Amino acid sequence: MRDLRTRLSRITDLNHAAALLEWDQETYMPSGAAESRARQVATLRSLAHELLTADETVTLLEFAVPDSDIDADLIRVVKKDVTKATKVPSSLIAEMAEAAGLSKGAWQKARQTNDFDIFAPHLSKIVELAVRHAEALGYDETPYDALLDQYEEGMTTSQVQSVFSGLKDELVPIVKTIAEATPLSDSIVHGHFPKESQWKFGLDVAQQMGYDLNHGRQDVSTHPFSTAFSITDVRITTRIDPEFFNPGFFGTLHEAGHALYEQGIDPGLEGSPLADGTSLGMHESQSRLWENLIGRNRPFWQHYYPQAQEVFPAAFGGVDFESFFRSINAVAPSPIRVEADEVTYNLHIMLRFELEQDMIAGRIATKDLPREWNDRMEAWLGIRPENDAEGVLQDIHWSLGAIGYFPTYALGNLMSVQLFNAASDALPNLDQMTSEGRFEELLSWLRLNVHQWGRRRSADEILLDATGSGLSAEPWLNYVRKKFGDLYDF
Ligand code: ZN
Repeated sequence: MRDLRTRLSRITDLNHAAALLEWDQETYMPSGAAESRARQVATLRSLAHELLTADETVTLLEFAVPDSDIDADLIRVVKKDVTKATKVPSSLIAEMAEAAGLSKGAWQKARQTNDFDIFAPHLSKIVELAVRHAEALGYDETPYDALLDQYEEGMTTSQVQSVFSGLKDELVPIVKTIAEATPLSDSIVHGHFPKESQWKFGLDVAQQMGYDLNHGRQDVSTHPFSTAFSITDVRITTRIDPEFFNPGFFGTLHEAGHALYEQGIDPGLEGSPLADGTSLGMHESQSRLWENLIGRNRPFWQHYYPQAQEVFPAAFGGVDFESFFRSINAVAPSPIRVEADEVTYNLHIMLRFELEQDMIAGRIATKDLPREWNDRMEAWLGIRPENDAEGVLQDIHWSLGAIGYFPTYALGNLMSVQLFNAASDALPNLDQMTSEGRFEELLSWLRLNVHQWGRRRSADEILLDATGSGLSAEPWLNYVRKKFGDLYDF
C-alpha cells in the first residue's frame, strides 16, 4: 500500500506542477512564452499519464491491501481512473490535442471577424473526434454519456435530460413573465468603482467567508478561475471592471466558493488523487452557493451594504438598500451566457446541452448550427442574437474539444439550492448569522457534508446524504419563484 501511495503522490505532484505552470500562464507569464509553456505543460501531463497507466501502477493496485477506508476509496477511484486513461489510444489523444490547438486559433479569428465559416470545418473535426473519443471510452446508451462522464462522473444523458426538460418547461414561462413585467433598473451597479477599492472589498468579504490567505492568494486574469496545487495552496483570480460593480465582486465570491471547497478537503487526503473536487457540478454548486444564495440575498447585504456605501460613496452613498438590492438582482434576457442573471442562466446551458447532443448524434450539420442556435434562443429567451459572435461563437469550450462540459454549470446551480436548503434546515439561524457577516457555521456544515470527502464520495452520494434526495430541479424552481416573484410581482 505504501508503494502505491508513493507512486500516486508522484503522479499528483506532476499534475499540480503542470497546474502551477498553467496558473502562471494566465497571470504573469510574458505572452511571448506561450509556445514553450504549452510544451512544458504537455511534458508534465504526459509523464503523469505514463506513470498512471504503467504496468507497475496496475500491479500495485491489484495487490494493494488497504489499511483504512481512505485506502479502500483510493484504490477504487484510481482503478477507475486507470481504466479510463488506458481506454483511449495515445494516437487519438494526440489527434485531439492537435485539433484543439488549431481550432482555438480559428475560433478566435471567427469570433473577432464574426465569420462562422472560419470555425465550421474545425468544429466538424472536433465533433468527429468527440464521437471517436466516446466510442473509445465506451458507454451504455449514447455516445454523449461517455463525454458527460468525463466531467460529471456517473451522470447519464437520460438523467440530465429528464431533469432539464422539466426545468425548461417551467422556466421558459417564468422568463417570459419577467420580460413582460416592469424591469428592475441595474443602473446603480454601473458607475465609478475604483479598482483598488473593489479588490480590497471583494477579498475582505472572501476572507470573512473563510477563504484562508495563508493557503491561498488572489491575482488578476482575463478569465477568472480557481486552481489548487495542494490543499494548502488554493488560488483564485479575478477581473475588475472599474465601471461595473458586479463582475469583480460576484466573481470573487464565485471563485472563493470554489476555493473553499478545495481548502476544506480532509488534510489526510493531501498528495493523493482523492484530494480534488468530486465533479464539476458539485464544484459549481459551491461557487454558486456563495455567489448567489449568500451573496445575492437580503441578509448578506443587510450586513455588507453599509460597508459598500462607505467604500463606494460616489456610487452607493445616496442609494437606499432596496434600490441597490434590486439592481444586483435585475433579470434581463441577454444573448451572452457569462453575463446572464440567475434566472436565465440555466436556459443558456440547456440550449448548449441540446445542441451538443444533436451534433454528436449527427442530427444537426455544423453549417446549420448558427440558425438552430438563434431559433432556440428566440423560442426560449425571446431574443435573437444580432450576429454569430454574440451567438454560436461566444464560448471557447467547443473550440477546445470540451463537449459534455456545459451541463455541469446548470447541475451546479440546481445542487446549490438543494444543499443550501439542507444547510438552512440544519442551521435555523442561518439568515441571522448571514446578516451579521458570520459564516463559520455554514462553512462547517459544507465541510462536514461536502468538502471533506474530496473524491471519496460521488456527487450523487454527497447529495443524497446531505439532502436526503437525488438531483432535482424543483428546489431551484421554488427558490426562483419565491425570490423573483417578490421582486417582479408574480
Ligand atoms: Zn465556477
